[in-house]
Amino acid sequence: LVRPGSTDEVAAVVRACGAAGVPVVPQGGNTGLVGGSVPASGGAGFSGAFPVVVSMTRMTAMEPVDVLAGQVTVQAGVRLVDLQRHARDAGWEYGVDLAARDSATVGGTIATNAGGIHVVLRGMTRAQVMGIEAVLPDGSVISHLAGLPKDNTGFDLAGLLCGSEGTLGVITAARLRLWPVLPATTVALVGVASLDAAIAVMQDHRGGRAPLVAAEVFDDQCLELAVSVSGTGWPLRHRYPWLVLLEVADGGDGSGLVLDGLDDVVIGLDRTDRERLWAYRERLSEGFATSGVVHRFDVSIPHQAMEGCVAQIRTVLGSVGSVTRVGVFGHIADTNLHVLVVGPDADDMSVDRMVLEVVAQYGGSISAEHGIGRAKADALQLSRSAAEIAAMRAIKDAWDPQGLMNPGVIFA
Ligand SMILES: Cc1cc2nc3c(=O)[nH]c(=O)nc-3n(C[C@H](O)[C@H](O)[C@H](O)COP(=O)(O)OP(=O)(O)OC[C@H]3O[C@@H](n4cnc5c(N)ncnc54)[C@H](O)[C@@H]3O)c2cc1C
Repeated sequence: LVRPGSTDEVAAVVRACGAAGVPVVPQGGNTGLVGGSVPASGGAGFSGAFPVVVSMTRMTAMEPVDVLAGQVTVQAGVRLVDLQRHARDAGWEYGVDLAARDSATVGGTIATNAGGIHVVLRGMTRAQVMGIEAVLPDGSVISHLAGLPKDNTGFDLAGLLCGSEGTLGVITAARLRLWPVLPATTVALVGVASLDAAIAVMQDHRGGRAPLVAAEVFDDQCLELAVSVSGTGWPLRHRYPWLVLLEVADGGDGSGLVLDGLDDVVIGLDRTDRERLWAYRERLSEGFATSGVVHRFDVSIPHQAMEGCVAQIRTVLGSVGSVTRVGVFGHIADTNLHVLVVGPDADDMSVDRMVLEVVAQYGGSISAEHGIGRAKADALQLSRSAAEIAAMRAIKDAWDPQGLMNPGVIFA
């Protein structure tokens, strides 16, 4: 494991690895959920040589916020939480937020094109990247950090590196878009009877009285486990199949909520209550982690197909004797659901295949925001055509003819 302190040092490491025929695995905060930041345990993907892990955690410099442009340039090892604080101190906000914020890095979130809880308002990470600096597999450095909003000078290399999962080079710095700070927010937790009802509640708030900052959904199983790990009481009067967590930027007085016809709602107006309601959403993964080996899925399903697809996933999983618990949660406005399955052995991938095949049948994507990594490389063809995979392969082969940059990731 190498921890370079500068772009020149990253380039030197990559060149040395190229000369020695040694694979390189870029690593940020190591919070990725598809195994892209850790070398495979066996020989798969590696041509006999042990890889060098290039950890970016020493590259944490941040330039002052450029208030004229509403942008900032930072190194790739900066943690998301530090970037958010840096922007806020200057009166701006960074558009991406996710529960791994205390460890995930700017480079890792760009490499995975991370989504998170504010996509409904700000878009994915790719929409925040105005420029990039990276070391390519041959050790050359590309640096395009001016951040000009209009710059049609050929291919969008920053856009290509977003979501490349360390297979095309090591991202060393980025120029990032910032956003004006929003008014104070109100959070509401609503119980609903179906996913279609959850979508309708979200839709009532999108383009509504106040900007919709976040719209999360989770099922009764998720709430049950979140309650058990947090030691808090049941938040609503009754139990419901689905819960919707909404956050609207209405000045914090609740005026942005559209609650007509909803009979069980709890509202958080001040910071303590907002954080208390968010904890049900943010601690559910921890709840599942305490209940056994968890198979995790990060899928996109068109809104109109979501109810039927989730029902079919549950039916299919119901026929697997080893499954003891299934939970579903996600970012409802972004058509992104996470399915958590407890029971089957960690190495038993049959259940993974079943879920991903159902998603593909309903016109969904096998990866909404976590990426393909090593975990889903075998299933890429469920979401991408042979022609698309060949086009991606051609780019990979042109940039990395030795195949040394994160082998085994994206391409099986
Ligand atoms: C609790 C929790 C919640 C999460 N919530 C979300 C969520 O809401 N939305 C979401 O999209 N994701 C979520 N994630 C997963 C998410 O992908 C990661 O949190 C984050 O994007 C990865 O950043 P990282 O620095 O940890 O990267 P790592 O895990 O270190 O690496 C991830 C991938 O990026 C590559 N990489 C890392 N750094 C670089 C670099 N500098 N240059 C080139 N390649 C690099 C690695 O090789 C690997 O393929 C969550 C994870 C956890 C643990």
